[in-house]
Amino acid sequence: MATQKFIVDAMLGKLARWLRILGYDTLYYRDAEDWKILKKAKDERRILITRDRGLCVRARKNDVDCFFVIPNEEIEKILADLSRKYKIFLDVNPEASRCTSCNGILEKKDKNLWICTKCRKEYWKGKHWETITEILIKAQALKDSYGTAEAGGSKPTSGRKTGNDS
Ligand SMILES: [Zn+2]
Repeated sequence: MATQKFIVDAMLGKLARWLRILGYDTLYYRDAEDWKILKKAKDERRILITRDRGLCVRARKNDVDCFFVIPNEEIEKILADLSRKYKIFLDVNPEASRCTSCNGILEKKDKNLWICTKCRKEYWKGKHWETITEILIKAQALKDSYGTAEAGGSKPTSGRKTGNDS
């Protein structure tokens, strides 16, 4: 179950769509004032994802968890980092996906067809599916590569990370 909820700032529309594909409840506003975004994040316990360092600092002061995205970062890298930090799953299951346009829940209509229960947009599991899968495989590989770097090769990975890797 996708339990983490996100709110993504205006510059990261592509990432918002990705999180929805992965099934995460993700709000995205093309133009909302910072204070509104912060309030929404706090009220609904959403993780804020932004490219605005100042906004991130303010969020943390307000007890809002914030994930800062470096400008021009590749989508695979962002997804890998998010997955590592918030344990989001990098595999897509159309049964659990959300509408990339409106964040609505999808309903299965046919073997390869889903419809958004909110805006009625149709989703066909077609050719684009391969592209989605390809990017997720890359993201997963990136994430795995951090794992081995941290574990220092062949050391046992039992127990928790100490978290002093910065
Ligand atoms: Zn929709």
